[in-house]
Amino acid sequence: MSKESFRFRLGAFKCIVVNDGSSPYYDPATVFFANAHKEQLKKVLKEHQLDISQWKEYISPYPSLLIKTGQHQVLVETGEGNLEPTTGKLIPNLRAEGIAPEAIDTVILTHAHPDHIGGNINSEGRPAFPNARYVMLKAEWDFWFHTPNLETLDISKSDKELIIKCAHECLLPIRDQLDLVDPGKEIVSGVWAVGAPGHTPGHMAVSVVSNSKRLLCIGDALIHPIHIEQPQWFIKYDLAPEQVITTRRQLLERAATEKALVHAFHFPFPGLGYVVPKGDGWRWQSMR
Ligand SMILES: [Zn+2]
Repeated sequence: MSKESFRFRLGAFKCIVVNDGSSPYYDPATVFFANAHKEQLKKVLKEHQLDISQWKEYISPYPSLLIKTGQHQVLVETGEGNLEPTTGKLIPNLRAEGIAPEAIDTVILTHAHPDHIGGNINSEGRPAFPNARYVMLKAEWDFWFHTPNLETLDISKSDKELIIKCAHECLLPIRDQLDLVDPGKEIVSGVWAVGAPGHTPGHMAVSVVSNSKRLLCIGDALIHPIHIEQPQWFIKYDLAPEQVITTRRQLLERAATEKALVHAFHFPFPGLGYVVPKGDGWRWQSMR
């Protein structure tokens, strides 16, 4: 097993976190904690051995989660694919684990940002997982194809245009394989779509249960471990910050109550751990 993959079991399911590569986020304190009060932020970062003036970049992994249920081979997220030179390693890394892209029968997309759907298609623009049913929430598709309004985001006009362009380019080629579902849907036996709106309108979390063992994929509802302690600090790319904060509290409460293993896409690889109570809130306990 390489540094690019991490195997674990959840009940009867065999799971592997498989990386697509990584990418830097510059000025992470401002991007990740957009509304934080500076003095409070400095104090919290210090508790995490981070100095606000020195913290210039955060290198985020882009890991997919493969779930082998026995009946299905489910992949959650496809990474950034060919959109960046440092990504696009998902398929070689899956092959290294003995999984051909043709063997994936279900691909779940938490939302339509480039780092989560870039690997939907191959270098010829065709579906990278030709036999898969791709699943996303209907509300997400409707947003990107009917009302992709990114006006509330404090990012450049060209970045907004690029995000919308990527959503269209990575979703249109898979539309014949796409299954648009509502929150609460059991996607395959033991795997459920959970509505987690705010980061985007149709953002989805994924709940996985096997033999009473539980896992919760939180997508981009929280993107840094500090968000678990400070769920009120939203990120620059959250479309509806107030809704994100409500969604986060619900997910954190659920993860802590269920004692679910959590997979957090942007946390340090492999992004697995537990949400444990701390005072009135929670903290992250990494699995390794
Ligand atoms: Zn993301």
